[in-house]
Amino acid sequence: MTAPAPRPARRVACPGCGAPAVYGPENPWRPFCSERCRAVDLGAWAAETYRIPLREGESEAPADEAPGAAGGSGTPDG
Ligand SMILES: [Zn+2]
Repeated sequence: MTAPAPRPARRVACPGCGAPAVYGPENPWRPFCSERCRAVDLGAWAAETYRIPLREGESEAPADEAPGAAGGSGTPDG
């Protein structure tokens, strides 16, 4: 009679720190090793997603176009 061998918990490398994390129902933070790593990863993801683009080159003074430069009647051809 052979006793059923305990099923070894599957372990995966934590995406956050690389430490072996238990990949099972006993680990609510899987595939992370801890809540912290999970939060960090989500934080990075959120920061990357909701990043506010900084507009560079914007001058505070309103850029007015030179008067008179615009326009120009085309020569009637034909
Ligand atoms: Zn980790």
